[in-house]
Amino acid sequence: MERVVMKFGGTSVGTSDRIRASAARVADEAAKGHAVAVVVSAMAGETDRLLELAGAHGGSLGQVETDVVLTAGEQVSAALMALELGRHGLKAQSFLGWQARIETQGPPGASRISALDAAPVLAALDQGIIPVMAGYQGIGPDNRLRTLGRGGSDLSAVALAAALGARCDIYTDVDGVYTTDPRIEPRARRIPAISYDEMLELAAQGAKVLQTRSAEMAKARGVRLRVLSSFSNDPDAEGTEVVDADLISERRIVSGVAYARDQARIGLLGVSDQPQAAAEVFGALADAEIGIDMIVQGRSRDAGTVNIEFTVDRRDLHAALDVIDSAASGSGARDIVHETGLAKVSIVGIGLNRRADVARILFRALGEKHIAVKVIATSEIKISVLIANESVELAVRALHSAYGLDEAV
Ligand code: ADP
Ligand code: ASP
Ligand code: MG
Repeated sequence: MERVVMKFGGTSVGTSDRIRASAARVADEAAKGHAVAVVVSAMAGETDRLLELAGAHGGSLGQVETDVVLTAGEQVSAALMALELGRHGLKAQSFLGWQARIETQGPPGASRISALDAAPVLAALDQGIIPVMAGYQGIGPDNRLRTLGRGGSDLSAVALAAALGARCDIYTDVDGVYTTDPRIEPRARRIPAISYDEMLELAAQGAKVLQTRSAEMAKARGVRLRVLSSFSNDPDAEGTEVVDADLISERRIVSGVAYARDQARIGLLGVSDQPQAAAEVFGALADAEIGIDMIVQGRSRDAGTVNIEFTVDRRDLHAALDVIDSAASGSGARDIVHETGLAKVSIVGIGLNRRADVARILFRALGEKHIAVKVIATSEIKISVLIANESVELAVRALHSAYGLDEAV
């Protein structure tokens, strides 16, 4: 009997009607004779509401309690889904993160799954019960509740699928992974099959259709992953399949364009030209679990020193500056500057390094739209540019078109 994990995101359980429609999909899958486990997100908007509520009571001071507040969203939708499945005459039972024994590491608000004991879920499946697991949550080393970072129900689903040896179907409000966010570029095309590496890179660069860590885990554990629409009525809808690169027959240079708004740039000016000075700063940021990106080192006007610039998520800016303030005294930075109102736009493709003119296309396309590039960073399968926040949509559309991704009209 094939095992399937079906994950429903916020909009797919956003109203009672949506919960009914999603439950009907689960019932259909179960009727095919599959052993089905379900993972749900909070109802759309609920996590934002809870976050604001916790914030009104000093949430940033008590991050573990904030996590306790946040987990409530998924608790409600898991139980509502289990109730709704009952109406279909199915046996179903909700599982909270701790009941599925999901152990986590890392800071509250952005924990990682370190272990998942499938035994309780398997026991339910063996009894013909559909387990409905609350996404986005687990327990920390202190046995208290934790959340997995925004979009973390995708990770819950992939982790459960890995533990069960199941296929993982992510149901969302678009019918697959597109060449870019279809909300920004209506000419974006659905990608029928994408490699784990490209999916991971698109997610890491901001395509929120899958959470980055979920793509990472799917790749590491070889989970068969699909992205499908919970809104489509087409029983043959194919969505996007995430597969090994060698299974993709289409030879393409660029697979997609991703964007991440609200980035901040930090500059350490006049840092000692010794590697250990940078190591100290980046070590302190890593210890504080602050993700850094787009590192550029350049000449400084003072001999024996360099300027180091990098970007962080806007919401991490103040924490990063605090960390640097204490660490940078060791590096002797002459000045620490920062800039906000920035965004990162990236092109991703496993064919990028095969073509010499990818950079020319990029600069020409942005130049034609008078979009200034502040920082550029490349890797084997991506090129990212840092630009002004207000140019994001224009840049995404320009690059989408320049690399030939627009749907033929
Ligand atoms: P869910 O609540 O189901 O987890 P999300 O809002 O997290 O859904 O992710 C789905 C959204 O991701 C889509 O509505 C779309 O706007 C956005 N998105 C961004 N980039 C892409 C992309 N390349 N392909 C598809 N959707 C994308
Ligand atoms: N409810 C959480 C969020 O809004 C987790 C998720 O939807 O995956 O980020
Ligand atoms: Mg999501």
